[in-house]
Amino acid sequence: EPDPTLRPDRRPEDVDRALRPQGLTEFIGQAEARANLRVFIESARRRGEAMDHALFHGPPGLGKTTLAQIIARELGVNFRMTSGPVLAKAGDLAAILTNLERNDVLFIDEIHRLNPVVEEVLYPAMEDFELDLVIGEGPAARTVRIELQPFTLVGATTRLGLLTTPLRDRFGIPIRLQFYTPGELSEIVARGARLLGIDADAQGVSEIAKRARGTPRIAGRLLRRVVDFAVVEGDGRIGQEIADGALTRLGVDHLGLDGADRRYLGMIAENYGGGPVGVETISAALSESRDAIEEVIEPYLLQQGLIQRTPRGRMLAAKAWSHLGLDAPKAPGQ
Ligand code: ADP
Repeated sequence: EPDPTLRPDRRPEDVDRALRPQGLTEFIGQAEARANLRVFIESARRRGEAMDHALFHGPPGLGKTTLAQIIARELGVNFRMTSGPVLAKAGDLAAILTNLERNDVLFIDEIHRLNPVVEEVLYPAMEDFELDLVIGEGPAARTVRIELQPFTLVGATTRLGLLTTPLRDRFGIPIRLQFYTPGELSEIVARGARLLGIDADAQGVSEIAKRARGTPRIAGRLLRRVVDFAVVEGDGRIGQEIADGALTRLGVDHLGLDGADRRYLGMIAENYGGGPVGVETISAALSESRDAIEEVIEPYLLQQGLIQRTPRGRMLAAKAWSHLGLDAPKAPGQ
């Protein structure tokens, strides 16, 4: 029987949702975070209380939203989701908070982009499950206090450094998500192929995993594209050759770098002799936002040892020169 997620009326998000792990046991990788969360969830359940507030930080696509949903499911409570930029006014947050049921999980994505006025409202809500709302204006203005149901706030951010200290301090459970190893990504790709009803051998799976930039979201996307090539140009099965061919045609190289990554490295090599060069300069030269460079491109290049951050700017490491097929310039005086 064909997998229903492959039906043409399913939009990509629905397929995404189908691949999303539902429970902590199904969630692959992040072993330390998972083991700790298991304890915090179990303790909250036994005490019948809300779990302490948790803050997930790390690059996009590593499973922050997925983990927040899993926490709610394992706690047996509702999951409510919003994001920093969406909460424009204090009233927007108040409306959500007053609708929460006892011990619910509220997920706020991009929490570093909260309006400061909204953030002020969040402090007493997190600390004492209370809302202080100002009603009216001028001399007639007065503050009313509203009691809230206890809840768990799960915040997610790609930029921990942009969070204010008072907000950071109110999270009892800070968790940094790490890039996934090729072994973990192999498990994720194999599971995805199984759910999509696709036959994939170990070499094919491992080829996709190695080139997924340490990121489950990318692994899922690459898997779907390789499936397309396997169906149209192969026999529908995924092996090493079809995976390698498809990924190369998609512009994903052997380290998993894409066009934007290579443009970044190539620009520093060719225009700045390998650096150091400041992030603003890189941003202007590539016409990419500074945020995209710092949140999306650089974390993986740093983790792979392709670049270094120095006080004077970014520099290419020896591995980047060899990956680009270029000779590193000799150090001055040599
Ligand atoms: P983030 O919120 O950090 O940007 P998401 O939670 O949205 O990331 O995850 C992105 C995609 O990757 C989702 O489609 C999810 O199914 C998948 N994913 C994330 N973590 C895992 C994991 N540990 N195992 C399997 N799939 C995962």
